Amino acid sequence: MEFDLNKRHCYWFNELCKIPHGSRNEKALSDFIVDFAKAHGFDYKQDEVWNVIIDKKASEGYENAPGLILQAHMDMVCEKNRDCDLDFEKDPLDLYVEDGLLKAKGTTLGADDGTGVAYMLAILEDDSLKHPRLSCIFTTMEEIGLLGAAELKPEDVHADRMISLDGGGECHTLLSSAGGGTAVVKRKVSFEANEDPVYCLEVKGLLGGHSGGDIHLEKGNANKLAARILKEMVLEGADVRLVSFEGGMKDNAIPREASVVFASTTDKDVLKEAVSKKEKQIWKELEFSDAGFKTVFSEVSSDKKMTKKDSEDVLNMIYLMPNGFKNRSMVIEGLTTASLNLGVVRTADDTIELDALVRAALDSHTDDMLNQIAVLSSLLDMDFSVEGKYPGWSYSEVSPMRDIFAGVAKANNKELEVTAAHGGCECGVFKGLNPNIDIISFGPITRYIHTPDEELDLESFDRSYGLLCEIIEACK
Ligand SMILES: [Zn+2]
Repeated sequence: MEFDLNKRHCYWFNELCKIPHGSRNEKALSDFIVDFAKAHGFDYKQDEVWNVIIDKKASEGYENAPGLILQAHMDMVCEKNRDCDLDFEKDPLDLYVEDGLLKAKGTTLGADDGTGVAYMLAILEDDSLKHPRLSCIFTTMEEIGLLGAAELKPEDVHADRMISLDGGGECHTLLSSAGGGTAVVKRKVSFEANEDPVYCLEVKGLLGGHSGGDIHLEKGNANKLAARILKEMVLEGADVRLVSFEGGMKDNAIPREASVVFASTTDKDVLKEAVSKKEKQIWKELEFSDAGFKTVFSEVSSDKKMTKKDSEDVLNMIYLMPNGFKNRSMVIEGLTTASLNLGVVRTADDTIELDALVRAALDSHTDDMLNQIAVLSSLLDMDFSVEGKYPGWSYSEVSPMRDIFAGVAKANNKELEVTAAHGGCECGVFKGLNPNIDIISFGPITRYIHTPDEELDLESFDRSYGLLCEIIEACK
């Protein structure tokens, strides 16, 4: 199997690999797509963040069919091997074929989502295809938080049905995805001079994981566990005065480690004993899900500590912050429908910041969780804000697009596979812009996306193109 540039979807994929298109660097590719629209005389729109929308009239016999949106994101994740000196800002990708797989030497390939972009260009230019009125939406900055799609307006969504080309697996579609946002809770704290002994409590050895896909697996959250150990000690009479609290790296990763420095007048052996007792209790809770959990207790030094009120409020906030798995679907087996992850706690100068990623398929669930954090924040004198909020795509039992896809799969002797995700995707943003939209996701077989081993199965790339044309033709 070779990469045959006589096939138009291959030709276009090869062309766009010549144009650097990492997230926030899509202008050149966006302009290239606009030039394509101009050359073919299509109606198009390019907005301020370089999203492009191209419309094509229905083919003969499809004039009365409802319109259809095709959609893909232009940007790719730029990852490379340490010994690769390719410059993602200006160099073309170095493509090669191995055992029927298309790869890029030392870098990500950008099949996610360049295959979708290539499919749309091939479909738009092919006047022999049968199709309803088409609206092709090319978005930007998907990989860094769906930022391009977030700038689209309801009037940019020209139809009530859509094929998201950011899918994979050929005869496979997503059924739903999570929406969400990051709750950011901050508190300016004051310090006073300290002469008491100072200790460091570390929580370590946890597995961590993705805050969407892994949130139901009963893993320990290092931030929550560290706060719990200290709060329980306080409830048992120990003196705990925070100096700093640090844990986790990203709001979308379950934090594996946390480290809390605190001053205390309580006897060192009493503290040590309490930590060790709680370590055993919590380990028992995590025995079958996160058994690497452990604590390290050590003496350190600090000439300052937070004021009593600041220390209490901050510890109470972390302790009481809602966290973890919340709801599951009763229709789709194994699907989490609402969750929270207190991914990050950090102390910078005189400010403590907590970042919690909230996810839910239904926006009302997202709002409920964010409201709970907002109320708790105000009770404890914390500043509360929400960043990067996006809507969810909740499962609908009735989906004519899914029926069309299943029919095409069956005609090709295949069964349509479906999955629901507790992660975010652009489909949710489109659902937010047009609540009536009926969506399927679609794409060829790829592997190891977002890594330099990313590969595109070329036979599947061809086969999927054929399937996509059949699905579009069936959209009468
Ligand atoms: Zn993608």
